[in-house]
Amino acid sequence: MALENVREWLYGCTRCGTCKSFSNIFEPGCPAGERYKLESYYASGKQLIARALAEGKLSLSDDEMRERIYACTGCLVCQQICGVFHHEHIFDIVQSVRTEAISNGFFHPAYAMIYYGLRSEDNVFRKPRNERGEWARDLDVKKATRQKVDVLYHAGCLFSYEQELWHVPRNIVSILQNAGVDVGIMGEEEACCGGKAYEIGYSGEFAKYARHTVENASALGIKTIVLSCSDGYSTMKNLYPKINIVPQFEVLHSIEFIYQLIQTGQIKLKREVPLKVTYHDPCHLGRHLDPGLYDPPREILKSIPGIELIEMERNREKSWCCGAGSGVKQANPELSLWAANERLQEAQATGASALVTACGWCERNFLDAVREYSVNLKIYDIADLVRLAISP
Ligand code: SF4
Ligand code: SF4
Repeated sequence: MALENVREWLYGCTRCGTCKSFSNIFEPGCPAGERYKLESYYASGKQLIARALAEGKLSLSDDEMRERIYACTGCLVCQQICGVFHHEHIFDIVQSVRTEAISNGFFHPAYAMIYYGLRSEDNVFRKPRNERGEWARDLDVKKATRQKVDVLYHAGCLFSYEQELWHVPRNIVSILQNAGVDVGIMGEEEACCGGKAYEIGYSGEFAKYARHTVENASALGIKTIVLSCSDGYSTMKNLYPKINIVPQFEVLHSIEFIYQLIQTGQIKLKREVPLKVTYHDPCHLGRHLDPGLYDPPREILKSIPGIELIEMERNREKSWCCGAGSGVKQANPELSLWAANERLQEAQATGASALVTACGWCERNFLDAVREYSVNLKIYDIADLVRLAISP
């Protein structure tokens, strides 16, 4: 989105400061603002920057200004708390400045991997396209490009290339097959959903991948796509329609699908998993949706014998962001890890021995923070625990 397209929303912020913290629990909400304690990092400061740019009082060549704009995880805490008329467009404003920066030749070096990776290999890690299906190499799973399937599992760039996270897509495929679902994958023929490109301001690349995903699924006759990547899920569900590309298939996150299969009795959780856990709501499954997927993960966890679920103080709509979103992990890894560690400390304070989530980007960032800060906490995807509970 160009800055010109958001002009009408640039004058709504009253700088009241309400969006800085979750009002009724008096806990911080904005990771960027909380880390640097400067107005320019909060939503109010970012909107003021966009306004000054639109009025020609600031220039895109200002490095410090661009740094503020890239220090936004897109967690949408500000959008949720703010009550003024433009409140649902705060991240659109941030995204528009990022788009404007790229259009004017201000290329963030940290995003080179994403940009050139997409252009040459259709993934955000610049890894070989023909290695995209490696995570499933030894699995007996249908290829949706060769055989008709009821459900297409879209692994996404992160789960396809981060070997430490392969347990998630592998567990999901196994859970779905176990439940009798006719599931297939695209393997090396899968491409990025385009979500990361959108968030960092590459609007053209985003549109290209949105079109590709929808046309490809239509050509294959796909009726349902399941994702365990919360970014990819939110991209297909929320962002494609923003540019008038409406998927002709049902988009489900794996927690929605697993919850449905538990309710229909196709998944039976019989084995005891003795664990005290707390659940981290990924922003893309919460504030990015209306309504957020807050109950299904909790219901799944409560259905697993032996699991004790303890809530963190900031939960559901008031969840603290993991810090990895919207390109912050690439552009500002220090902020990203700091935000994750804040969450790990909050999780530990509950007395839980494990933090469970349902997003690969959250898991990646938490695993990195556990190592960086030597935190004694196990990190699981919810699929790991479901798989343990159904294993013979
Ligand atoms: S974004 Fe909304 S809540 Fe935040 S300072 Fe501006 S008006 Fe207040
Ligand atoms: S989206 Fe999140 S990180 Fe960005 S300004 Fe709003 S609260 Fe802060």
